[in-house]
Amino acid sequence: MKVLDLQCRQGHVFEGWFASEDDFQDQRGRGLVQCPLCSDSHIDKRLSAPRLNLGAAAPEPSAPRAAEASAPAPGGSTAARLPPALQAAWLELARKVVAQTEDVGTRFAEEARRMHHGETEERAIRGQATADEALELLEEGIAVVPLPLPAAAKETLQ
Ligand SMILES: [Zn+2]
Repeated sequence: MKVLDLQCRQGHVFEGWFASEDDFQDQRGRGLVQCPLCSDSHIDKRLSAPRLNLGAAAPEPSAPRAAEASAPAPGGSTAARLPPALQAAWLELARKVVAQTEDVGTRFAEEARRMHHGETEERAIRGQATADEALELLEEGIAVVPLPLPAAAKETLQ
């Protein structure tokens, strides 16, 4: 699995998870890679080298399936690397995700797969996935996005 540091034209920095470099180029070419903060689809890779990230799982703008990280990613979460002004925006986004997705918890991989195969209703879900599960989903062509949800986003709603 490739974890790429991406940047939009507004300078927002975020992580994207892809099965491979080719997968990233393909998705970007089709406008599927979007900034999670401003939805800009003009995304460029940052110059830092891609690394293998075994700590978190990934979301896809067109298919809002979000997997919370099951372990802290090396180098800190996406939110932690944002400037303070953007952290507030990130928190707001995270709250929206929490409000608009169904929490399927540890059944995330199973539910994502069932939706992919048309065995259950298509809907936005979030939950926990291990790195292995996220990798399997990506290899099966099921789009997932890593989303390190701030704890505050959940606390305010539950
Ligand atoms: Zn942006």
